[in-house]
Amino acid sequence: MIYIHIPFCKQKCSYCNFHFSTSLQFKDEMLAAIKKEIFLRKDELQNKTLQSLYFGGGTPSILSGDEIKALIDEVLQYFDFTKDIEITLEANPDDLNNQFLKALSNSPVNRLSIGTQSFFDEDLKLMNRAHNASEAEGSIKRAQDFGFENLSIDLIYGSPSSGFETWKENLNKTIALQVPHISSYALTVEPKTALNDWIQKGKVSNPREEEQNKEFYYLSDFLKDNGFEHYEISNFAKPGFYSKHNSAYWKYKEYLGIGPSAHSYDGNEIRSWNVANNSQYIKKISSNLLAKETEVLSQEDQFNEMMMIGLRTIWGVDLSQLKSKFSEKILEHFQKETQSKIEEGILMVENDHLKIPEKHWFMADGIASDLFIV
Ligand code: SF4
Repeated sequence: MIYIHIPFCKQKCSYCNFHFSTSLQFKDEMLAAIKKEIFLRKDELQNKTLQSLYFGGGTPSILSGDEIKALIDEVLQYFDFTKDIEITLEANPDDLNNQFLKALSNSPVNRLSIGTQSFFDEDLKLMNRAHNASEAEGSIKRAQDFGFENLSIDLIYGSPSSGFETWKENLNKTIALQVPHISSYALTVEPKTALNDWIQKGKVSNPREEEQNKEFYYLSDFLKDNGFEHYEISNFAKPGFYSKHNSAYWKYKEYLGIGPSAHSYDGNEIRSWNVANNSQYIKKISSNLLAKETEVLSQEDQFNEMMMIGLRTIWGVDLSQLKSKFSEKILEHFQKETQSKIEEGILMVENDHLKIPEKHWFMADGIASDLFIV
């Protein structure tokens, strides 16, 4: 699978600490550099057939249909891909107008991940999103009218701008719109964000953990009652609509990340990440050099990562894979640390996989980190 990072946004959302620029001044140079990086790395993923290509950001929908198509052509020119390759574009509701959707519907993009976040203006204002509530709803309907069935929307819960009743209404609207995939995250307060600043100055109250907990469990129960499968802590899909791209990532498959700040992984022990700086990225790539740093993950790092990613999913951690990959010493640690948690019922073994029972998923990160080798 390949991930392409488009590092531009119209405006800065109040909670966001991703890598992007709000100036489009060097957009053409950036697109040329991304194409060049695709070419420079064309021999990676050797003997692999691409199952997915994912445009994330930033805001990929800030590009034109032609620009997106040109990047896809570049990838498909150099990499083998399956006939049913999943090509996802993250898109913001305010970009999904008729003209753009028409261009996308004539491109190989076959899945949209829409940054809806909420169907309510009070939430969208606090988040400083570029769209309003009517665009949130209208964009989904328009995408469906243009034939996009494989749609995902992002929703944020636990915002101090609204309460439980608004959250329930958000989910009712989602069901009414017949969206088959939902990614839903708690609003988190990251350092160096406007939201953090407002909270420090007492202008906005801190999101409350009990409220987020309640909204998470409502989300999970409500979506399951409406035919969704809860396949990763933050992801829900109707049967047949799991994200191929993210599922591969959660199963520790190899991936190639193109564009500034994008990460790559060889599926085993090598991870690399591109510089998170647009001008440095363009400069390096224009000189035919890769703009990445690489690290070799120790066995301990690989083990910790397997716990952190696997225990957040419906599949859990594959115990045969674990036994074949790690040393006796690590396996002894694993045995010792998991035993008491299995007895307590916060971990379980099912079909040779270690899992967290779903009712404890809200604590998944804490449970996984208790198993870490530090
Ligand atoms: S659109 Fe996405 S990447 Fe851009 S600022 Fe908002 S949350 Fe961050």
